Amino acid sequence: MEQAALFTIFGGTGDLAKRKLYPSLFRLYKKGNLAQHFAVIGTARRPWSDDHYREIVRETIKDLNATEEEAQEFSNHFYYLSHNVNDTEHYDQLKELADQLDEKYSLQGNRVYYLAMAPQFFGTIVNHLKSQEILTTTGYNRLVIEKPFGFDYDSANELNNQIRNVFPEQDIFRIDHYLGKEMIQNISVIRFANNIFESLWNNRYIENVQITFSEALGVEDRGGYYENSGALKDMVQNHILQVVALLAMEVPTSFSNKSIREEKVKVLQAIRRYDSEEVLQNFVRGQYDAGALDDKQFIAYHDEPNVAEDSLMETFVAGKFLIDNFRWSGVPFYVRTGKRMTEKGTRINIVFKQVPVNVFNFEQEVADGEELPQNILTIYIQPTEGFSLTLNGKKIGQGFNTEPVKLDFRQSAEVTENSPEAYEKLLLDALNGDGTNFSHWDEVANSWEIVDRIRNTWDQTTPGFPNYSAGTMGPQCAFDLLAKNGHEWAWQP
Ligand code: NAD
Repeated sequence: MEQAALFTIFGGTGDLAKRKLYPSLFRLYKKGNLAQHFAVIGTARRPWSDDHYREIVRETIKDLNATEEEAQEFSNHFYYLSHNVNDTEHYDQLKELADQLDEKYSLQGNRVYYLAMAPQFFGTIVNHLKSQEILTTTGYNRLVIEKPFGFDYDSANELNNQIRNVFPEQDIFRIDHYLGKEMIQNISVIRFANNIFESLWNNRYIENVQITFSEALGVEDRGGYYENSGALKDMVQNHILQVVALLAMEVPTSFSNKSIREEKVKVLQAIRRYDSEEVLQNFVRGQYDAGALDDKQFIAYHDEPNVAEDSLMETFVAGKFLIDNFRWSGVPFYVRTGKRMTEKGTRINIVFKQVPVNVFNFEQEVADGEELPQNILTIYIQPTEGFSLTLNGKKIGQGFNTEPVKLDFRQSAEVTENSPEAYEKLLLDALNGDGTNFSHWDEVANSWEIVDRIRNTWDQTTPGFPNYSAGTMGPQCAFDLLAKNGHEWAWQP
């Protein structure tokens, strides 16, 4: 179905616009979601011409098998306006251009404003959209914003107040691009379309839940950003807590934006708010030192460009969340994320409880009282996508010896390659006005409340950094965290 809309991309010359937004818009164009009735205004400070802008746009889609003609036609819908977001006059030019394009392409007053810029500009931009009357009265006006949404609860709240002065919550689409990923969306299908799982999805059958977001890369050229953020704010506040909420939420009454949000918020509200002592018991941090893996040598975090030599910023976090409700009381949700780990991978392990009694332990090969391996459901988010379930089966032969068997499903590389990119899905959702896969304010607010407590406690103590070698799965304390409850990380590459 073709959608009529004008996109205004603030930060149109930036990395995100070039790497993600333009290719995603092109994919929507190829599929017919965008056709004749769309236009894009790119704005940023550089003094580009429309022609140059269109050339750049064509460059960004060169790997997407566009014919010369297609690329040309697509890029002809793009217009560039040199614009300093702090300068009120420029918004008047923006309004003029937007109105012209609305008429030229019959866009029915539908507008999507995409803020692909540093968050400190968000407030100024939205205020001007209102004061300079760029918002239309005929169609819709939707705001898409990138992370980070604030740097703590107070700043997020202030930013939210500024934005909500202009846009109602249902028109605000806060991007968490993980929510656009196929296997994150699959969490709900695995849970709610399979009775065998949903009926066991509680503290009677699940012993613990483990969420790992590991990166093999270091900070690359983002040292400056990372020094102000660290792994906790960069990953836990948004992506990881969103995944915890999706895994732990109650079954929504329908799979609608509103019901899902209500259920996710209830989970975030039920996550235990730790005092300082509990933070120190339940959360650990790390920073990578120099290291080597597969003949590759890596430098320490504090030697990376734009990183302070005596930096105390964490590049690794592991922790235990507790959810104080009927379903989850007593079940630890372990999370970990870090840079320069052994392998890149995002996966979830649902570790089920042991059978109450191992009736097979009379066999000689099983030492007295030894327990069977636990059933584990693993959801692979990336780079491979799929899920697996480990069960216990009988070892072929005399007697009743058991051995673990793994039911394994991975999407083929071909299916994965052809699946829509997260940004493509999210842009289409925004066009459809569907906020299901975006973070709502109540979720963001609760996440910051949880994360602020950890950050504040950490800021009062000095960590012994660096404490893990590049190329490993993090510091020893991340393993001890589980060991003290008699658990271990199911994924140990
Ligand atoms: P970038 O630095 O590459 O681009 C910033 C853009 O803002 C440029 O187009 C620049 O010209 C423009 N700009 C800066 N100051 C301006 C001003 N005063 N007036 C007008 N234009 C101005 O940044 P990016 O990597 O594209 O990131 C943009 C946003 O997206 C950030 O909030 C970032 O945190 C977020 N984000 C980026 C990525 C990514 O993959 N790049 C991923 C997740 C989130």
